[in-house]
Amino acid sequence: MKQNIIFLALLLTMIGTGCGSQKNSVSAKKSLRVLIVAGGSSHDFDKWYKQADAETLRKDGLATVIYTDNTDSIAYYLPQTDVLYLSNNKPIKSVETRQAIFAFVDAGYGLILGHPALWYNWKDWPEYNAQLAGGGATSHDKYGAFEETVVNTSHPVTQGLEQKITLKDERYHYEHDPKAAEIEVLVTNSVAGSDKIYPSIFVVKNPKARIVGIALGHDAESHDIAFYQTVLRNAVKWVAHK
Ligand SMILES: [Zn+2]
Repeated sequence: MKQNIIFLALLLTMIGTGCGSQKNSVSAKKSLRVLIVAGGSSHDFDKWYKQADAETLRKDGLATVIYTDNTDSIAYYLPQTDVLYLSNNKPIKSVETRQAIFAFVDAGYGLILGHPALWYNWKDWPEYNAQLAGGGATSHDKYGAFEETVVNTSHPVTQGLEQKITLKDERYHYEHDPKAAEIEVLVTNSVAGSDKIYPSIFVVKNPKARIVGIALGHDAESHDIAFYQTVLRNAVKWVAHK
């Protein structure tokens, strides 16, 4: 009898421990739901956004990723999305989709704008650049090497980054529009022979949501390096308030 009681107690302890650890691991590892939207011109969107960035975000269970290059499907996916990562220069024509993106941001969900999405892509949608991007780019240096400098080392998005690195990309001439939403510059870029310095990684100050702009990202020289991958993972965590 006594043996049975000891066995029962042991069994209950084991079950208890099992349930407890399972519960903890589930809550600690809740993945963020990221919707990557890409597509358009001048970039290998499948390679660098559908594959490389999605893999970067899935690592260690940080995120579950849905990828689409069908901009008309954005509104369909947003109700199951924590972070919207726009990296398309393909037009978002539908009024409903545009409204859904703004409603998502107004509801406080996180937004990341990658390289192609920081261009002035849509003349008929100035609210996009003004309120979500804080400005935009209309030109870039010819693809080549330049320097990235972290100018705000205390921001969550810049944690774990080398303070200065040289990489190859298209140096976007992103300009903040003084009439647009304010920005907070985290990383700048500069190149020998030019006294122009442009924001490379920045926060767009939105009253409701957290928004991060990442001007880097033309090809492997950004997507495959630790600097870029750390920025992207930090940005997803930060805009999602995690
Ligand atoms: Zn590019």
